[in-house]
Amino acid sequence: MDTAYDKKLSSQQRLLTIPVGFRFSIICFLFSILYFLCSVTTAYSQEWQEIKSEHFIVYFISDKDFAKDVLLRSEIYYKRIASELGYQRYSEFWTWDRRVKIYIHPSRESFLKETGQPDWSEGVAKYHEKTIVSYAWSDGFLKMLLPHELAHLIFRDYVGFKGEVPLWLDEGVAQWMEPHKRKQIKVVIRRLAENQRLLSLNQMMMLDIRKRSDPDLVQTYYVQAVSLVDFLITRYNASRFNSFCRQLRDGKSIEDSLKFAYPVSIRSIKDLEEKWQKYIMEEKE
Ligand SMILES: [Zn+2]
Repeated sequence: MDTAYDKKLSSQQRLLTIPVGFRFSIICFLFSILYFLCSVTTAYSQEWQEIKSEHFIVYFISDKDFAKDVLLRSEIYYKRIASELGYQRYSEFWTWDRRVKIYIHPSRESFLKETGQPDWSEGVAKYHEKTIVSYAWSDGFLKMLLPHELAHLIFRDYVGFKGEVPLWLDEGVAQWMEPHKRKQIKVVIRRLAENQRLLSLNQMMMLDIRKRSDPDLVQTYYVQAVSLVDFLITRYNASRFNSFCRQLRDGKSIEDSLKFAYPVSIRSIKDLEEKWQKYIMEEKE
């Protein structure tokens, strides 16, 4: 993916090379939020066709085979994401009129023109409307954007918007569900640690990354977010992670939620930080 944003990043002197996938997530996330906040209503002028499965409706204009791939992969991701997050009984959600709508424009030009997105945007998600809008760029769409945005939708469905759910957790979960990213993070996070570039957990909690434009800071934040989720799920297990999310959903603070879900090992944000730092340095690639 060669976006205007990527070009801007590569023109800067950076110590680290962050894989394209991380940059992509940042782009899609920032524009998901912007799109959501602005509540832009798009008037589609082209003729949409649709195909449906149990939990999704895919709208397309010209490439039916690609739409079929998207539908198939969406169902696979849906089950995998719910199960990896330890969400039992999640299959009851998103059926019939609550199905998620995925719009696939035939080209990048058409996507940008119809949605009014900036020229480096690859896709947008509208959380409250359970809608994803992008275009037919096969590999990137299927392997990155789709699992990332579906994970956001599933996670937000589960934890809601009322509790004290930190942004890093939301972004960490979404990136964790992008299959290629799991291998990349081990190397990148260790390099950040070795270069003493890690943010403190207090900074991670306080930072509203949507308002920041320093590319190095944004990248560090995103890499750390997914690494923290990796730690919580891999070192412990999905059911503890689920219990942690449930406490947040029910309005408990981060620290109380950690204490409840990881009573022996993580009893404070400081514990989380120390154990996570130890984990990233001892993990073998
Ligand atoms: Zn995101």
